[in-house]
Amino acid sequence: MKTPAILVINAGSSSIKFSIFASGSEPAATDLICGGKISGIGVRARLDAEDADGNAMADEQFPSEATYEDLLGHLLDWIEKHLDGLELVAAGHRIVHGGCDHVAPEILNKKLREDLQALSRLAPLHQPHNLAAVDALAKLHPGLTQIACFDTAFHAGRSELESTYALSAELTEEGIRRYGFHGLSYDYIASRLPDVLGEKSKGRVIVAHLGSGVSMCAMSGGRSIATTMGFSVLDGMPMGTRSGQIDPGVLIYLMQEKGMSAEDLTCLLYRQSGLLGLSGISNDMRKLLESESREAKFAIDYFCYRANREIGSLVAALGGIDALVFTAGIGENSPEIRQRICAAASWLGIDCDDDLNRNARGETVFSTPKSKISVAVIPTNEELVIARDSWRLLAGGDS
Ligand code: ADP
Repeated sequence: MKTPAILVINAGSSSIKFSIFASGSEPAATDLICGGKISGIGVRARLDAEDADGNAMADEQFPSEATYEDLLGHLLDWIEKHLDGLELVAAGHRIVHGGCDHVAPEILNKKLREDLQALSRLAPLHQPHNLAAVDALAKLHPGLTQIACFDTAFHAGRSELESTYALSAELTEEGIRRYGFHGLSYDYIASRLPDVLGEKSKGRVIVAHLGSGVSMCAMSGGRSIATTMGFSVLDGMPMGTRSGQIDPGVLIYLMQEKGMSAEDLTCLLYRQSGLLGLSGISNDMRKLLESESREAKFAIDYFCYRANREIGSLVAALGGIDALVFTAGIGENSPEIRQRICAAASWLGIDCDDDLNRNARGETVFSTPKSKISVAVIPTNEELVIARDSWRLLAGGDS
């Protein structure tokens, strides 16, 4: 008998990341069979895959004209050829926007597909690619159950005060609200808090998801209370190439005085700002940390300064703080940035063990016993949340 498995898909504009989990029972991290990505879509696409121990399993190239559907077709062929003991029972997708109505994972059907299409206008740079992968898989493997897992869902229970803009009720009704994103990552971190923080996991925790996209989430009892991203993935912290918080007056100025169009602003705010815009060098924190340039140093100073300000705002929303958790590319891998943000937030009574911070591999609490709050690193695992929630939905339980 073949082993049942769930394919997890995270489809973006230039890459499709995937993972495969054995799903005979509820998937755990140890059920990962392999993972990888198709990168360079539209330029020179290639498929890379690794097994759970990091050994390369695939390294294939495809012609530049290969479409999304062609590439997912190659992936399905590759799975069939290289993992012939597996039977795919479902594909779980990361879907950036579920709007107000889709606040838990759902099996994709015609009606849900239509709803998600309508939500594309709220996330035009992400949602269409998520849905392109859904459509392509539906064509290539019509019998496969597909499941949508939403990046907005974890924030759905926040108060109206937190999720509303000071705009007319009409505009709020139309969907102009603060949704919040990175919910699959926060969901995973929330599931790990009891093991890592013990009793404090029930308290007030701020999670800093510092990756290419950057946001923070204030949790109370493992639930989202407030978050730094809002209507779009642009708000809050400066990111690799996104601006983060900016006075809307700047946008009016750029339109009126510089004749910038919606497309120009999109390009500026999503692709040319953040660490890249500030430094003029790179969107990659590693390159900035290595650089001697004044601009790179300023970009890093700015990132840590804004992190402290956002933490302050989230502490206010929570009415205090018991723990601070770092995750995602920068949060998991850069002791220097963790140390600098902790130093900036020392007003919280943070006291860190430098050795523990420097040597942190995997889940690590690196605050000292005399620190007023616990500080930890927890590597995120959005793919596992998608596999787990898909499994639970298939099993007929709550996800
Ligand atoms: P995404 O999944 O959105 O692509 P990640 O969470 O993988 O983002 O984060 C990617 C970012 O993490 C990179 O752009 C890089 O700046 C940063 N990063 C990765 N490793 C390190 C490191 N050792 N030191 C500093 N930054 C790092």
